[in-house]
Amino acid sequence: APIVLAMDGPSGSGKSSVSREVAATLGFRYLDTGAMYRAITWWMLREGVDVDDAETVGALAGKPELLIGTDPTAPTISVDGTDVSAPIRGREVTGAVSAVSAVPAVRARLVAMQQQIIAGTLEQGQGIVVEGRDIGTVVAPEAPVKMFLTASADARASRRTREVLDTGENATVSEMHADMARRDRLDSSRAASPLTQAPDAVLLDTTPLDKDGVVAAVLEQVRR
Ligand code: C5P
Repeated sequence: APIVLAMDGPSGSGKSSVSREVAATLGFRYLDTGAMYRAITWWMLREGVDVDDAETVGALAGKPELLIGTDPTAPTISVDGTDVSAPIRGREVTGAVSAVSAVPAVRARLVAMQQQIIAGTLEQGQGIVVEGRDIGTVVAPEAPVKMFLTASADARASRRTREVLDTGENATVSEMHADMARRDRLDSSRAASPLTQAPDAVLLDTTPLDKDGVVAAVLEQVRR
């Protein structure tokens, strides 16, 4: 039977590239929930909304029309018809996304969308790898396989630095250290679905592993 594979953990844990590779290997679909929070944040910034004004962010949470593609080899995301795959990875969105994702109306809308996408995929007889912060705890608590990826602060900061440099923006490892510490603090301390490991998730420290090593460790859990 088709299954949900929940992949949670902080940024820089290697979640995204591993989730895509695992999905492609298993012939599963792939859902990047972080991209959805980033896309709503991109829209708020474009509209000139103060992202620290939770009331306004909440009131507008239903406005942007999101479309997300779940092909693991070519994930796509658009907002009101604009492809935002590139700009949502930049530092402006990254700096604002924790504030937006702490707003309950934003989470309610996106969790419902995510659950719909998951249900639709399973109905079509396909499995799906879903990555985020609250997949094993809130979005898909029934997922039969749950992974929680971590890595040392240094490993995470250097991965994140490479990601930002790939977008063409500047970044130093020490800046990324500081950015990530701030985002971790916000993501772990918010009232609505803070980043936590589900009790039945398998903890995997990716620090000493390369991508293939992490993929192999995840596939081993799926094949158990
Ligand atoms: O995974 P990524 O770094 O792209 O996620 C961006 C941000 O979106 C996180 O820092 C967090 O604030 C938010 N997020 C969330 N719940 C998820 C996925 C992401 O709150 N399931």
